[in-house]
Amino acid sequence: MIPALETRNLTKRFGSFVATSDVSLSVRPGARHALIGPNGAGKTTLINLLTGVFAANSGQILLGGEDITALPAHARVRRGLSRTFQINQLFADMTPLDSVMLAIGEREGHGRLGWRPLSADRVVADEAAALLERFRLADVMGSATTLLPYGKQRLLEIALAIATRPRVLLLDEPAAGVPEEERHEVLGIVRDLPADVTVVLIEHDMDLVFSFADRISVLVGGALFAEGTVAEISGDARVKAIYLGEDA
Ligand code: ADP
Ligand code: MG
Repeated sequence: MIPALETRNLTKRFGSFVATSDVSLSVRPGARHALIGPNGAGKTTLINLLTGVFAANSGQILLGGEDITALPAHARVRRGLSRTFQINQLFADMTPLDSVMLAIGEREGHGRLGWRPLSADRVVADEAAALLERFRLADVMGSATTLLPYGKQRLLEIALAIATRPRVLLLDEPAAGVPEEERHEVLGIVRDLPADVTVVLIEHDMDLVFSFADRISVLVGGALFAEGTVAEISGDARVKAIYLGEDA
């Protein structure tokens, strides 16, 4: 089976500091794969390497078996590797429905100018409404995005990423800053996305990770420290020691 996403001996240095150290990671298609590790472990750096924000010093990145190591960020997105959009000023001033319709229109290559049949708008609006329903945003889809509660804004960011129909979605602490009681909802919605979307999630809260993931990789000091199922990682004394050490 070809992994949805794979890194081979990926290494990234900032000067003499090794932020990503020889990381070989394999994410199977449809996985809910969590990437955990203490602060400064290199989780965000790894995501930045995967998306093409940073170039690796050595090693390879493969998406569905295709080597994307040398591709610029936008070419990786076109091949189906996405991270969430930040809600920028454009989206903040629009409603969730208009934002999602815009994202779908971009995906379908509709120009912002130029002629297209009205029926195309109908199809796009229906898809957008269905997507917003899935993300429990249907009741606020006509509201100003800036007025939405923080948790709903995070959900909209993920919905916008999903509107581009990614094969692999990378999420870097999507529930950070979301009130405790809404975090499980956010990650539950992501977990329950269709199985043709592979998800790689960075999350610090272990309870959330254990209820979300079917596979967990642990990064420490830039290197892969442990990998396994929820049962394996939650029962791993070495992993526990690292997290207990961090809390102390
Ligand atoms: P995590 O997301 O696991 O908390 P990061 O990937 O953000 O960790 O950071 C890993 C290490 O790399 C940290 O020590 C951080 O200071 C360093 N680092 C991250 N980005 C840069 C950069 N652009 N320049 C220099 N050092 C960086
Ligand atoms: Mg980080």
